[in-house]
Amino acid sequence: MPLRIGLVGIGKIARDQHIPALAADGRFELAACASRHARVDGVANYADLESMLAAEPDLHCISICTPPQAHFDAALLALRAGKHVMLEKPPAANVRQVELLAEEALRRKLSLFQTWHSRFAAGVDTAREWLRTRPLVGGRIVWKEDVHFWHPGQRWIWEPGGFGVFDPGINALSLLTEILPTELCVERATLEFPENQQSPIAARLRLQTADGAAIEAEFDFRQKGEQSWDIDLQTGGGNLRLSRGGAGLAIDGNTVMLDEGMAGEYPRLYQRFARLCESGASEVDIRPFQLVADAFLVGERRSVAPHVI
Ligand code: NAP
Repeated sequence: MPLRIGLVGIGKIARDQHIPALAADGRFELAACASRHARVDGVANYADLESMLAAEPDLHCISICTPPQAHFDAALLALRAGKHVMLEKPPAANVRQVELLAEEALRRKLSLFQTWHSRFAAGVDTAREWLRTRPLVGGRIVWKEDVHFWHPGQRWIWEPGGFGVFDPGINALSLLTEILPTELCVERATLEFPENQQSPIAARLRLQTADGAAIEAEFDFRQKGEQSWDIDLQTGGGNLRLSRGGAGLAIDGNTVMLDEGMAGEYPRLYQRFARLCESGASEVDIRPFQLVADAFLVGERRSVAPHVI
């Protein structure tokens, strides 16, 4: 019997990735959607999660694709209704909310899958294995994209809890924390806020590993022309480049992998979610989110030119 799933927050990522991945996966049946405005053909549609849960008591699980500001209330409601929950990134509006959700899931013996989709990109497993035995010397992250192209009209990104440039930038941190064998912390940060917005349009971080290696990270939403989602790491045993958000991998300049971009990530995410639902186990890792929170805590704030959404 497939797992009957409800999808909450029908926007770009729900339509681009979640719905196609679910349609191709026999382990799931997309039974219902909850969204204030959007509708999905061929399933039951509800204006909010409360109505969906009331009308569809036999749903096994809920996948939440709203902006992060709406994650906590929705996830808590779903867990309290006895449903397994899958959460888009960034996982919530603040770190403590994620911990509370994890505790709620554990108490109820339900699965909370707090996802980092970039970790399911094609180059990640090979990169992690290669780095396991090679001491890190230093590294650089360049995560620069055109916000007008990738996030057209998304006002929530600029509001508190939307995280601005860290909405995509947290993907780089999710990759780094996944592939490095050592832990990381933020040493210093500079955040650039447009005069008329409440979230940063650009940021620079200096991260330090527990072994003392430094990684410089640049995030920018104002990129025109070629877009960058690249991580370069220098080790005592050679250099590694994870490009295209984890889909490309090169070692010492030689291409090891150049895959399909994001296309494979969501089928693999739902494969993992199905396994978690079967076992009742959760998967939660707040480290990338904590690094973003720490950048806000220690970061020097600069005001830059207004940004028109
Ligand atoms: P989006 O296009 O704005 O869609 C989100 C939808 O959630 C909205 O269309 C809206 O639909 C609903 N919603 C519920 N509460 C909302 C609120 N308080 N403010 C705004 N919308 C609300 O955003 P998205 O790009 O799909 O991103 C959603 C989440 O997925 C984010 O956490 C993002 O980081 C993550 N994500 C996005 C991408 C991407 O490529 N876009 C990739 C990976 C992950 P209704 O108005 O119908 O309720």
